[in-house]
Amino acid sequence: MAVFDIVHYGDPILRKKCGSFTDFSRIEKLKVDLFDSMYEAEGIGLAANQIGLDLNLFIVDISNLEDGDEPHVFINSEIVKKHGEKGIYQEGCLSLPGISLDILRPEKVVLKYQSEDEEWHEEEFDGLLGRAIQHEMDHLKGVFIVDRVSEVERIQYNTELKELEKNSKKRLKSQSNKMGFVL
Ligand SMILES: [Zn+2]
Repeated sequence: MAVFDIVHYGDPILRKKCGSFTDFSRIEKLKVDLFDSMYEAEGIGLAANQIGLDLNLFIVDISNLEDGDEPHVFINSEIVKKHGEKGIYQEGCLSLPGISLDILRPEKVVLKYQSEDEEWHEEEFDGLLGRAIQHEMDHLKGVFIVDRVSEVERIQYNTELKELEKNSKKRLKSQSNKMGFVL
């Protein structure tokens, strides 16, 4: 078991469009790491770049909130279509601790993705799962919930955002200092 630190706002990896996942021999271990890290942080969804990995891979587990739902793993995902009525729902984000915002999103999403056995699927999702998928897909494209609200709403969180940015820079700097001593 490996629990990774969640990468916060201000780290450049969260602004990247994540690359394809190709080495399926790694999926079993990666999946466990992602779930362990997400459960430790008490989230219901986690994208690979939120633990510093530039990979098109995310997980969702809403089984605590919706009976019968199981943990999901989505690989090399692409949104085919978003449709249905748009609704507002309050979203938080593990990479933006202390911030939650009312986010407007379409009700349904059609996702093309690979499962762990490399099979391709095209499936429609709605409800909380559909919303979580849209949130995680945003991460894989470098988009945060703060990008999905108006300037007026975002400004309320300016102090928090600046603080997160500062801490991420500090963290990256101490990491690169550490790496300087690896021979
Ligand atoms: Zn998030």
